[in-house]
Amino acid sequence: MPFLGEIKMNICNIKNVAVIGAGDMGHGIAELCALNGYTVYLKDIDQKFLDRAKNRIRESLNILARKGKLKDDNVETILERIIPTLEYKQALENCDLVIEAVPEIMSLKKSVFVKLDSILPKSAIIATNTSNMSITELATQTKRSSKVVGMHFFNPVILMKAIEIIKGDNTSSETMKFVEDFAYSLHKLPIPVLKDVPGFIVNRIQAPSSVLLNKIIEKKIATPNQIDANFRKIGQPMGPFELMDYVGLDIYKHGADYFAQKIDPEFKSPKWINELIDEGKLGKKTSYGIYDWSSGRPTINLEDTTENVDNKDILLVQVNEAAKLIEKGVVEYPGDIDIAIQNATGNVSGIFWLLKDDREYLINRLNSIADEMGIEIFRPIDFLKEMPFPSARKALKARKKKRRE
Ligand code: NAD
Repeated sequence: MPFLGEIKMNICNIKNVAVIGAGDMGHGIAELCALNGYTVYLKDIDQKFLDRAKNRIRESLNILARKGKLKDDNVETILERIIPTLEYKQALENCDLVIEAVPEIMSLKKSVFVKLDSILPKSAIIATNTSNMSITELATQTKRSSKVVGMHFFNPVILMKAIEIIKGDNTSSETMKFVEDFAYSLHKLPIPVLKDVPGFIVNRIQAPSSVLLNKIIEKKIATPNQIDANFRKIGQPMGPFELMDYVGLDIYKHGADYFAQKIDPEFKSPKWINELIDEGKLGKKTSYGIYDWSSGRPTINLEDTTENVDNKDILLVQVNEAAKLIEKGVVEYPGDIDIAIQNATGNVSGIFWLLKDDREYLINRLNSIADEMGIEIFRPIDFLKEMPFPSARKALKARKKKRRE
């Protein structure tokens, strides 16, 4: 957790940051930047969204203050560093770095990018907090594609330590380094993503397990409560269906359909989720989704578990997807994948511990899951047979060494 007393203000010579979109992510990103000493222009399209964001930030800062996390600073001083605005010009004209956090709609993000490029100083960097979409495609809307980069924060921004830093096809290594340093100055852990693949690391790896979980519900093998109870039983803070509700079913669907379009139709959002969305049940934000959130966090019946589903299967399809990313050279160090998962999702064990089991058994199991569910994306790739164990410890060590050099 950041302490203002530890700030290295000029670590990357940034004075002003702009955050575009003051919603779930934008308000958290603005809070984090202000907490670490940056002046932040927070831009939205309506005053009511800016007011709501400021209230959310104040509430969150009050909690940090009560916990003694603000050290030498106080809530009002931090809030004064956030300048809400409806005007692009005010937000951007003296800005060194802009972080775009408008809804996950390609056409909307593209129109915002055109605007940003036309007003920002030539030297400024444009980062997008997109969950899944192509950085390279967004960069085509600008005349500065070497200065366009992905900066994927996780929800809740204040708590989750990982930030994926995604290299578009034309992003320069200077831009990557600059944004990594900025992430360190926020006391976060930047995870470089070297290829611009849909979903980057964490969302990409979780995508096939969502397909499997949804298939399990569709085939009535288990209920969402049973699956979530299974996961809570092994110490996960939140089961996968509660998490889906927490993030928003609309956001889940958008990601799934994007993967279906860009990678394989088997990723498509299933009918039962689409029906909930059509009924306006989007999860926490509308009080109803897979669960009832109307009185706060839903009650999961922890006794109602199931033996029809092996939790390991859910992780196994993630390991296979992770192997695809490692084979493609998406990560700098294979162990980065566990580091990203541990620091982005609250899954403290990561996924690669599974590889300590008999590799041949795991490969056979993946083939059985593919056959039983009739889904080919679960089929094990050849590389999984020979892939060396991806060690998070080695990755952290290598990263520390690189930073010292
Ligand atoms: P949100 O809907 O909560 O907030 C988006 C905000 O952008 C809204 O306040 C909206 O009024 C504003 N906006 C819309 N058009 C705008 C414009 N032209 N200029 C300025 N503001 C505009 O969305 P969110 O959940 O904060 O998601 C934002 C981005 O972050 C998306 O790309 C999403 O995929 C990504 N993301 C979301 C999560 C999550 O858990 N919610 C996690 C990681 C990344």
